[in-house]
Amino acid sequence: MRNRTLLPSLLLLGALSLTTACSPGSDQSEGPSDTSSAAARPGSSATTSPVRSVDPSRIKGLQIVSDNSEQNSCPFATSYPDVPGAEAMTAAMKKDVEQRLATFRAGACEGGQGSAEGRELNISHRFLVASGDVLGVRLTTLDHSGVGSGLTARTYWYDGKDRTYRTALDVVADGSRDAFLTALKNQLKGREGIDTAALDATFSAPASRAAALDDMVFTADGGLRVTFDRGDVGVPAAGDYVVTLSQKTVTPWLSAFGRRAQQQTVTPSGSLELGASNTPTPAAPTHTASGDDDTDCKQVKCIALTFDDGPAAPETATLLTYLAQYKARATFFTTGQNVAAHPDLVRAEDKAGHEVGNHSWNHPDLTRLTPAQVASQLSRTNAAIKAATGKEPTLFRPPYGAVNAQVKAATTLSPVLWDVDTEDWKYRDAARVARTVIAKTKRNDVVLMHDIHPTSVAAVPEILRTLTARGYHFVTVSHLRATL
Ligand code: ZN
Repeated sequence: MRNRTLLPSLLLLGALSLTTACSPGSDQSEGPSDTSSAAARPGSSATTSPVRSVDPSRIKGLQIVSDNSEQNSCPFATSYPDVPGAEAMTAAMKKDVEQRLATFRAGACEGGQGSAEGRELNISHRFLVASGDVLGVRLTTLDHSGVGSGLTARTYWYDGKDRTYRTALDVVADGSRDAFLTALKNQLKGREGIDTAALDATFSAPASRAAALDDMVFTADGGLRVTFDRGDVGVPAAGDYVVTLSQKTVTPWLSAFGRRAQQQTVTPSGSLELGASNTPTPAAPTHTASGDDDTDCKQVKCIALTFDDGPAAPETATLLTYLAQYKARATFFTTGQNVAAHPDLVRAEDKAGHEVGNHSWNHPDLTRLTPAQVASQLSRTNAAIKAATGKEPTLFRPPYGAVNAQVKAATTLSPVLWDVDTEDWKYRDAARVARTVIAKTKRNDVVLMHDIHPTSVAAVPEILRTLTARGYHFVTVSHLRATL
C-alpha cells in the first residue's frame, strides 16, 4: 500500500495547503501518509510520525458493512468493518453509524425540505492495528447536514485478551490520566483559538472529556497522536487540533491494553487472533471466461448490467455464480476500501470475464472535492484494483452520478452513468428490483444495481432468465461502447 499511495498523498498535501482543514476529503486519502495533512492544520504539530498501514485482506472473516445511497438528492455513504470475535466493538460502531445516518436521513432526505443541495454524509473506515490480540479502527465522518457540519473522527479499540471493547481514553491508565491531560493542555495552550479556561472545563467533566478525547492513534514509532475535532477544545474556526506525544513521554502513562496496542502498532506480531470461533472464509468463485466476448451489439440486443459499491462478502461471490450460469458478463464499479478488504473477489470478477471499474475510494460526491482530492480518490482505487487483477481500469462511475467538468479534468478515466436506475439501495426487495429491470430495460441500456445488498443479488437470476428468453445478451460497458 505504501508505494501505491505515495503519489496521491503528495497531491493531497498540495491540495490541503490551499484549502481549509475541514474541507471534504481531507481525510479521505488517509493512508500511511495521512499525517501529512496534520502539518497543514492550524492547530497542529508539524512533527508527527506516520501511522502504519494495515492490509485488511489478511483479516479472516472480515465483512465491510456498507450502506450507500446513489441519489444526489440524498447523498450518504457509510461503512464500518465487522471482524469476527470483536462483536462488542462492531456493536459500538454500528450504533454510532446508524445514529448519524438516521439523523442525516431525517434532516436531509425525508425532512420535506426539498433539495438536499450541499448536504452529504460520508463515514469511512481505516484499520489502525489488526495484529495479535489488538484491533483498532478509525471512523471518519464527513457531515454536511447543517449545524455542526464538518469532519470528525473516532477511534474504536478491541482488546482480544480481555475480550472487551475499549474507547480511545482506555489506552491511558486511570492513575495517569491527570498527568496525561496536563501534557495535552501544555501542548495546546498558546495555540491560536485555544481558551485555557474552557479547555480546563472540557477536560474536567467526564462527558465532555470523553467526547473530546475520542480519537487516539499510535504512530509507527510508538507515539500517541490525539486529534481534537473542530470545536472540541478551541474556537470552531480554527479547525481541528492535533497533539502528538512521543513514545518516551506517553509510554509510562499507558494502561496494560494501551501498551499492547502500542506494541502491536510498532512491531505487529502477525495475524489477528481474537479467539473467534473458526468460521472459514468462503473461497472466491473460480469461474473463468471462455475467451474474449465476440457478441456483436450491432447485430443482437445487448444490455450492460452494472453493480456498484462492492465487492462484498458473500454477496459478490453469489452474484458471480449466477452470472456464470447464464454466461452473462457485467461491470463492477468497486470502491477502493472494499477492494482492499476483498481483493480475491475482484480477481474473481476479472477472471470470469467481467469488467472492473472504479467507484472512488470511499464514495464521496466528487464534485465537492478539489481536483487533487478527486485524483487521489480515483488513483488510489485504480492502484488497489490493479494490485488485485493486474489490470488498470479505464472506467469510473461517479458516486451519486455527480460529475462535472472539473471532475472529468482531474482523471483520464471515462465516466459511466446509467439508463435504468433500479433504486435497489432504497427498495430492498428482490422481486421489485427484478420487475423494475425487466420492465424498464431497453436495447443497449446500462442498468444500475448494487452488489452490497443481498436483495439485489437475489433479483439477478430472474432478470437473467427473463431477458435472456427475450433475446438479450449481457455484455460489459466497454464491450457495449466498443461495438456500437
Ligand atoms: Zn455507489
